[in-house]
Amino acid sequence: MTADTPSPALPPYMHRRGLMLVLSSPSGAGKTTIARRLLEQDDELTMSVSATTRAKRPGEVAGVDYHFTSLTEFDLMVNQGKLLEYAKVFDNYYGTPREPVEQALAGGRDVLFDIDWQGTQQLKEKARDDLVSIFILPPSARELERRLTSRAQDSQAEIAKRMSKASNEMSHWAEYDYVIINNDVDSSVAKAHAILTAERLVRRRQVGLSEFVKGLQAGV
Ligand code: 5GP
Repeated sequence: MTADTPSPALPPYMHRRGLMLVLSSPSGAGKTTIARRLLEQDDELTMSVSATTRAKRPGEVAGVDYHFTSLTEFDLMVNQGKLLEYAKVFDNYYGTPREPVEQALAGGRDVLFDIDWQGTQQLKEKARDDLVSIFILPPSARELERRLTSRAQDSQAEIAKRMSKASNEMSHWAEYDYVIINNDVDSSVAKAHAILTAERLVRRRQVGLSEFVKGLQAGV
C-alpha cells in the first residue's frame, strides 16, 4: 500500500479492549521519565492520576501529578469505594481513583499506572486479564543512589529511607510480567512501547476478530 492509498477503515464491530499497563520500580529507577515519554508518544494511552496524602513537592501540579488530599478525604474515598486500589507507601497513602480508569477502558483506551507492588497485586486480583505489568530496575546500586541523591527534592533523611525501601520494592520484581533494566532511557521507552504494542495485539483484546475472519473467508 502506498502513502496515498489510505488503509481501509476496520468494520465498526471491531474494537479493542483497553488494557491496564502498570509500571513499578524503586524510587529513582527512572519510571516517571519512562511514563512521561510513553504518554507523549501514544495518543491511546492515558495516565491514571493517583490520590495521595503526601505533601506536594516543588514543581508538582495538583490534578496532573497527583490529586493531593487530606487523610480525611482519602479515608472517605476508601469508604465510598472510590479507589480501585490503595496502599501505604513510605508514610503516606496512595490510591487509584476508580472512575477515570473505568471510563478510559470502556472507551477502548489504555491506562498507564505508576503504582507500587502492593497496588499491582490488588489490580491483579481485580482485573488479571486486563493487566500488563512492567518492573523497571536501575542498572546498578550506585546509579540508583546517584539518581536518588541528584533528585534533591527530598531531605537527606528521606533519601536514606528511600534507599532502604528500594531494596524492599525490588524484592517484588518476580511478580511482574516484564522486567526492563533502565540502562538507557530511550531504549527503555522503546522496550516499554514494544510491550504495549504486542499486548494490544493479544487475541482476546481484539473484539470482533471471528466476525472479521468470516467476512474475509466469504470474500466480503
Ligand atoms: P512518590 O511519592 O515518589 O511520588 O511515590 C512513591 C511511591 O508510591 C512510588 O513507588 C509510586 O509508584 C507509588 N504510588 C503512586 N501512586 C500510587 C497509587 O495510586 N497506588 C499505589 N499502590 N502506589 C502508588
